[in-house]
Amino acid sequence: MDKRYVVIGAGIAGLSAAEAIRRQDSRGRIVLLSGEAELPYARPMLSKAPLLSMELKKLSLRQPSWYRSQDIDLRLGVMAEELDPGAGTVTLRGGERLAYDKCVLATGARNFIPPFPGREEVPLCDVRTLEDLRRMRRMAEGSKRAVIIGGGVIGLEVAAELYHYGLETTVLEAMDYLMPRLIGPKTSDWLRAQLPGLHVETGVAVAGLRREGQTIFVDEKNGRSWPCELLVVSCGVRADTALAQQAGIACERAIVVNERMETSAEGVYACGDCAQFQGFNAALWSQGQEQGRVAGTNAAGGCAVYTGCDTSLVLNLDGVALFALGDLGQSGGADYEIEESSWGQRKTFQVDPRRPAVPGRGLRVWKGEKLVGVSLMGDLTKMQAWKTQLLKERDGGK
Ligand SMILES: Cc1cc2nc3c(=O)[nH]c(=O)nc-3n(C[C@H](O)[C@H](O)[C@H](O)COP(=O)(O)OP(=O)(O)OC[C@H]3O[C@@H](n4cnc5c(N)ncnc54)[C@H](O)[C@@H]3O)c2cc1C
Repeated sequence: MDKRYVVIGAGIAGLSAAEAIRRQDSRGRIVLLSGEAELPYARPMLSKAPLLSMELKKLSLRQPSWYRSQDIDLRLGVMAEELDPGAGTVTLRGGERLAYDKCVLATGARNFIPPFPGREEVPLCDVRTLEDLRRMRRMAEGSKRAVIIGGGVIGLEVAAELYHYGLETTVLEAMDYLMPRLIGPKTSDWLRAQLPGLHVETGVAVAGLRREGQTIFVDEKNGRSWPCELLVVSCGVRADTALAQQAGIACERAIVVNERMETSAEGVYACGDCAQFQGFNAALWSQGQEQGRVAGTNAAGGCAVYTGCDTSLVLNLDGVALFALGDLGQSGGADYEIEESSWGQRKTFQVDPRRPAVPGRGLRVWKGEKLVGVSLMGDLTKMQAWKTQLLKERDGGK
């Protein structure tokens, strides 16, 4: 009998898994469930392409004909509500029950909205789905001021878009510097100086949110207040483990998987933002794509092992190019040694005409004898060479 596969979630991880299953098993029956109503799309573009003018349908990863040609039964706007690994069934909202031989969990992540006092009283936006983006567009119309809580990559990208849309834009970051998870204080200072259009406040402790008429106020603990008509929260994500937990599958911060993407339940795999391998989840596109491939290949009887993914940050924010990889001071401690280099005025990107050219600069960060982090600012010509050097040192010179 042909094998039956159910893939839950049709982001990049679920799509890669379905694709890998089909590559391995030309006859099996594949059902790919998406809780969203749209064809699977390029989620990272939600904050990169011009937020307020982009043609959203251009984001689709595959056309409907591709799913037909691969004989993948893609079901849009369909939530799986229950997983029973003992019985080998997935129950859908509405009651339909699908029997499977192998199941892949690719349920992704949800945005984390901190429990700010007053949160229920104000309309706030976050960006995870196309539907969120449409809502933000509607709310941006008629707004003059935007406040973004969270100075990570997505918060800054969204802020730059809103600024170009014409909104007076303020970014509030709780830590003492921007992108606290990814870059150290020095790279952050440089980045901040390149974004004169944005008002950036760091070290902000939000006391609460409130509303007076159409105006939303973000109140700080130190008494300052930030008024706006559009409030966006970008404070990271939490893995969506609801279905796995209900099924009794081992979860920590995310669903625990081994190098074959197997979970603690026989016949059930997990991949992408919902999974953690060796206690870690990078919540990156490349990770979802590769883990999906590994999960799908193994589910269909092949043999694949996940060995990690490229976690480097490459950002082109508002014409400002930045590359960062490794520990640039963000993990704390005073024993960093930083080598700073500057090499001329060559530009590798188009600079906003209102801004001065950004000269190329680089940082190499050492702990004792060991190179632990690199970043390039402005000119990324040396990116590959520096990345290779860091990875080589990290792997013990192999
Ligand atoms: C605005 C933005 C910008 C980003 N920029 C970058 C970037 O520059 N570089 C980068 O590497 N990464 C970036 N990311 C992160 C990247 O998009 C994610 O790591 C990646 O999309 C994760 O893919 P996934 O398939 O694991 O999960 P997701 O893309 O979250 O997909 C999971 C899907 O599963 C569905 N689902 C959940 N539960 C169920 C259920 N019970 N039944 C049916 N369906 C269900 C969800 O509705 C969702 O559609 C960005 C993310 C966002 C939001």
